Amino acid sequence: MVTVFTINQKDAFQAAWFMKKRLFTPGPTPVPENVMLRMAAPIIHHRNPEFMDILERVHDDLKYLFRTTQPVVVMTCSGTGGMEAAVSSLFRQGDKVITINSGKFGERWGELVRIYTGNCVEEMVEWGTAVSPERIGELLDEHPDALGVCITHSETSTGTASDVKALCAAIREKSDALILVDGITAIGAHEFHFDDWGADICITGSQKGLMMPPGLALVAISERAQDIIHNHKHQTQYYLSLRKALKAHTGNDTPFTPAVSLIIGLDEALQMLRSEGIENVWKRHEALAGACRIGCQALGMKLFSSSPSFAVTAVWLPAGAEWKPFNHTLKIKNGITVAAGQDRFAGKIFRISHLGYYDELDMLTLVGGLERSLSMMNIPFETGAGVSAVQRAFLGE
Ligand SMILES: *Cc1c(COP(=O)(O)O)cnc(C)c1O
Repeated sequence: MVTVFTINQKDAFQAAWFMKKRLFTPGPTPVPENVMLRMAAPIIHHRNPEFMDILERVHDDLKYLFRTTQPVVVMTCSGTGGMEAAVSSLFRQGDKVITINSGKFGERWGELVRIYTGNCVEEMVEWGTAVSPERIGELLDEHPDALGVCITHSETSTGTASDVKALCAAIREKSDALILVDGITAIGAHEFHFDDWGADICITGSQKGLMMPPGLALVAISERAQDIIHNHKHQTQYYLSLRKALKAHTGNDTPFTPAVSLIIGLDEALQMLRSEGIENVWKRHEALAGACRIGCQALGMKLFSSSPSFAVTAVWLPAGAEWKPFNHTLKIKNGITVAAGQDRFAGKIFRISHLGYYDELDMLTLVGGLERSLSMMNIPFETGAGVSAVQRAFLGE
């Protein structure tokens, strides 16, 4: 028998013998069958021409994805490794950098900057809301000596999207500060134009919109940022050096042994995104997110964010529901895994992913699963109200 979940015997016994596992977490996200099959092939050597051809195509397709003519380097580490590579490769001790803390991941920018520069101006923003371009402008007026601004496009911990186009314009109007964008759950879900919007760094991770297992960070680097990286006299890091990554990139190579199988899987996933067309990928995410919100609201649940992300929907737990039994009912009795609230919202909200390999019927399944769970927990709702609302949203009724 295949283990259904890593849970205790009693729960395993309670779980149905036949139950599909359905993952609705904003990283890792589900991996398409064709991507898994490509990764199952025998390993090849990373300096052989076959692999270098694959990496060349991946480099090209990543430029398409990020909307850039600049290099997007592939690093073998999770998304946070890409963030750390950017901060440590661009800034030095004493450099003033502004970060926006509107959730767990914005907070992470601040933690990284404090370690590498010791001079972080951290703007606290109410969780569940997005920072305004006006506020960014004020911050730059107060700190004209800031060398960088770190922002989060889709704040996964709160399900909140910020208007990165307007934020970049506001920064560019006032200052030459480098713009670092955490695009980890935005790339592939939200419209984003690295070159046209004037970003200097944008990062994503393989296990998010790219429909891949965890293990790769992808980092786009502007010309300005490349100049700064090359002009630093002393290297302050080794494995996470963007200078090394950029040098290898020019020869369709990587500085160290990369996660070969993951890069081969990424090649397949990028072909899928390319053939769907990036504009259609963005539209699909917007439609799935909209339907998810409508479905949850039809079940009487309240949304957490005032500026909802197209990658992840954060929802207040229904009145009368505790997180543990709610999660247990969803996961063990219905096979559906969602993400918990983080930090001070643990036990208060839950988060549903529609990032990556999802379609319309997945949203009907998710909302149908929520209905079954509410029913099992004796939480009142109108049977079919959520599913019907989602169905009508997709059918345009
Ligand atoms: C997942 C995530 C990260 C962290 O990525 P890891 O791959 O877990 O290191 C950072 N920022 C955002 C917005 C994320 O969603």
